[in-house]
Amino acid sequence: MRTLIRDCMVWDGSGAAPFPAEVLVEGERIVRVGRGVTPDGDDVRVIDAAGMTLMPGLVEGHAHLSFCGAQRNTDLGDIPPEEHVIETLHNARTLLDAGFTSAYSAASAKLRLDVVVRNEVNSGRSPGPRIRAASPEITVTGGLGDENRLHMNRSSFGIVADGPEAIVQAVRTCIREGVDNIKLNISGDDFVPAKGGMTVMRETEVRAACEVAHDFGRRVASHSRAGNAVKRAVQCGVDVIYHCEMADGEALDLLEAARDRLFVGPAIGLIHNTLHEAEPWGITKAVAHDLGMERCLENSQRTYEQMRKRGIRVVIGGDYGFAWTPQGTNARDIEHFVRLFGYTPSEALQCATRIGGELMGLPVGQVREGLLADLLLVDGDPLQDVRLLQDRSRLRLIMKGGAVHKDSVAEARPAVRRAA
Ligand SMILES: [Zn+2]
Repeated sequence: MRTLIRDCMVWDGSGAAPFPAEVLVEGERIVRVGRGVTPDGDDVRVIDAAGMTLMPGLVEGHAHLSFCGAQRNTDLGDIPPEEHVIETLHNARTLLDAGFTSAYSAASAKLRLDVVVRNEVNSGRSPGPRIRAASPEITVTGGLGDENRLHMNRSSFGIVADGPEAIVQAVRTCIREGVDNIKLNISGDDFVPAKGGMTVMRETEVRAACEVAHDFGRRVASHSRAGNAVKRAVQCGVDVIYHCEMADGEALDLLEAARDRLFVGPAIGLIHNTLHEAEPWGITKAVAHDLGMERCLENSQRTYEQMRKRGIRVVIGGDYGFAWTPQGTNARDIEHFVRLFGYTPSEALQCATRIGGELMGLPVGQVREGLLADLLLVDGDPLQDVRLLQDRSRLRLIMKGGAVHKDSVAEARPAVRRAA
């Protein structure tokens, strides 16, 4: 089956200005991008897209598909595995409905949730984005993700392991069970006793985890808020470094020197919403202040202005999946990049498409001949207003690998055009 998308403006994800063109999709690939493309032969589905912008499908760079409206970290441990599978599968569909054709997971709440949902989506039985499945957050005793207390065992999204040997075993177990990405919590976080400014996973532990994951051809991502946690991640070979807002000049220099091999992501959505939208869950301005959210937002602004200037590859993804960061609102991160970090709309959209595609390690994220046809047709011009992408009624066509997930373009158009 072939599809011709006609008369649209194409924003191709490269950073070039939008241009008028036709785009021909054959099978799962984009085969032609150009003016006046008129395929011969039968069985061409034609989509008239005047007034619309064709762009790459969005890439969520910090997905937590198994986070289903948690208010506390322990909520994610309390859900039985059976319900949790269903919730995760539902979230995968929600992301695709919101225009995200790829999701790079930044941690799974239970070991096999990402894995089983990735496999189910890949089988074609259930809708969802392309998924790179993550491990739970491997953490040290007392770190982010260790909810145990001396009198009580409780779980959240962590696997607790101490010392290089235990960490190596945790990494190998996750890989045996099918994950693509390993997640390490190198720093703490202000939500838990080990604070964000603390670097709590030792260098020998991080290095051992990276060596083993790379031996198996897997990627490693880290939770690194503290400057030292960023430096440790770079020096030990971590591939994707999240948060980084306390990175000092030395840490930024290290990131810049390694910018061709690694990615960073601020996960700003959760910080923004905890400050401004979490009152219904008891997080008043005063509580958010005590949690250090204002300082965290200011640090993120200062740091990501630098990331942008230094050409470091930054991906969107804001820890969506908590009660006040609902799944499906992920495109708000693009607006945050523009409003808070000084990115141009084109730059922010590249973070959400082309750079996300590079993170996925797949031929996605651009509208280019030969790439997989992961495409969005947007009613209007998202470069004029990136908030259009937050309005699902504006997403008129969602295509993943040439297969239509949603099509609300013209009800009356003929399904198949016969060539003359
Ligand atoms: Zn996260």
